[in-house]
Amino acid sequence: NTMSRTPLVAGNWKMNGSRELAGTFSDTLNANSVEGVDVVICPPSVFLTSFEASAFALGGQDVSALDNGAHTGDVSTGMLAECGCDYVIVGHSERRQDHGESSELVAQKAARVLSANLTPIVCIGEPLDVREAGESALQEYLGKQLAALTKQLSPQDLSGCVIAYEPIWAIGTGKTASPEQAQNVHAYIRATLAETDEAVADGMRILYGGSVKADNAEALFSQPDVDGGLIGGASLKADDFMTICQAAK
Ligand code: PGA
Repeated sequence: NTMSRTPLVAGNWKMNGSRELAGTFSDTLNANSVEGVDVVICPPSVFLTSFEASAFALGGQDVSALDNGAHTGDVSTGMLAECGCDYVIVGHSERRQDHGESSELVAQKAARVLSANLTPIVCIGEPLDVREAGESALQEYLGKQLAALTKQLSPQDLSGCVIAYEPIWAIGTGKTASPEQAQNVHAYIRATLAETDEAVADGMRILYGGSVKADNAEALFSQPDVDGGLIGGASLKADDFMTICQAAK
């Protein structure tokens, strides 16, 4: 990375892990701090307090857009903050697909996260049919997801966000976007943000996610507009995850 953006690598455990794994990760990550890289683990929220996080940060995988109250099963930004979170993933494709979350709701959640002084990691990404329909279909699809965000958030708020580009066809499939494919989309995202605010676009950390592994991370992260990664499967093994964090230096 040639700009002054601090690389960020976030592990998304999804619905995996245990208290024991939280202990293992705390030991490994605290003993191997990665200089110049922000390292985040996003476990299921029930395990947040099982971490002893000194050399890394914690994040939620999702959050409610509502105030505390009668919302069975939901977790608020305040609760995540109280459990040690500095980050919250919003708009992951699995939330969009499994829970019907719209880009408007995702933007509301991002605003919520910001108002609790936490950092939203806002996920966008296209399904396979859109990717196969070609460049303009791809840009239109991602442009709409971004527009929902730039419409609801002020440039000041936007500057507090991280964006994760996760092509759905690459998530959990072992089919990673090539470094060139990732770079093309990341450059498009940055250019689109620059239409709203150039300084915000320049400072925005744009992560790549989708089958990032220990052996392909460096090629992806060395692209000029790729500022780190959002890691699913490979974030469940401490050694693999450490290798990926090192690749972001
Ligand atoms: P994956 O998941 O690394 O297992 O492909 C990435 C994600 O969904 O964040």
